[in-house]
Amino acid sequence: MSKVFSDLKTLEYGVPGHPEAPFRVKESHARLYAAGHTLDKPTVVASSSDVALLHGPGHFKRVSSGDFSDADTPAYEGIAGIAMISLSGALSAAHSAAEGSPAFSLMRPPGHHAGRDSVRGFCYFNNLALACARLQADKKAARIAILDIDVHHGDGTDELMTKREGVLFCSLHQVPLYPGTGLKSHDNCINIPLPPFTGEAFYLKELDKALDELLAFKPELLAVSAGFDTYKEDPIAQLKLDKKTYRHIGSLIAQTKLKRFAVLEGGYSTDMPLLIEHFLDGFFL
Ligand SMILES: [Zn+2]
Repeated sequence: MSKVFSDLKTLEYGVPGHPEAPFRVKESHARLYAAGHTLDKPTVVASSSDVALLHGPGHFKRVSSGDFSDADTPAYEGIAGIAMISLSGALSAAHSAAEGSPAFSLMRPPGHHAGRDSVRGFCYFNNLALACARLQADKKAARIAILDIDVHHGDGTDELMTKREGVLFCSLHQVPLYPGTGLKSHDNCINIPLPPFTGEAFYLKELDKALDELLAFKPELLAVSAGFDTYKEDPIAQLKLDKKTYRHIGSLIAQTKLKRFAVLEGGYSTDMPLLIEHFLDGFFL
């Protein structure tokens, strides 16, 4: 039985003109509900000790007090509390996956650019990385593969997971593009740069290879940073995936037969709710 975790409190921040806007969760929530998914509030509630699993000692306090400066990632009023709800969604999805139910966290803000001590790229806490660390701490999974399919390099996850025991990280991303990292693989991080205008056939071939490498690691569980900004009409990147590509991506991942969960990262086109629905049609198979 698959699960989707979401909370409409995560709509309560934003500034006009910012691509990481409330419609992303609001309209995706409505679309998934109409498609017959049940959307639950988080079942695992995040605390500051979860943030401390990977972030530096002052990070939680810094986000809570708004004591940071990044032009893309404003210190919105109340953002720490909302980011904790987003983290709770990731923890809940990870827990559900470990129990055998594939799960998706439909929340914002995203997380994969958040580094040890840094708020950046619309991200405050690294939801997915923290969820993986919590699974390991709770002894729910010792070996975890992480797949990042957002169009941007998951630089925060790369930073937090480098050399971490029991973790293999793999990111497919457009280069050149923000944040400018992920040009090469290193340690336990496989980075697969893709040129602008990459379309479905080449993308799926590279994804297939990436999944083979992750499977060779013999993970107990697969965690997916699911970005939908690889879409051909996404306003902030130049890959060329079609609507139907997302079902393929979801089913390729499902075919690994691994316990699995996915967390929403980026994706800024108005078609994103449909892309998520297609992805889950494959991912939950
Ligand atoms: Zn992105």
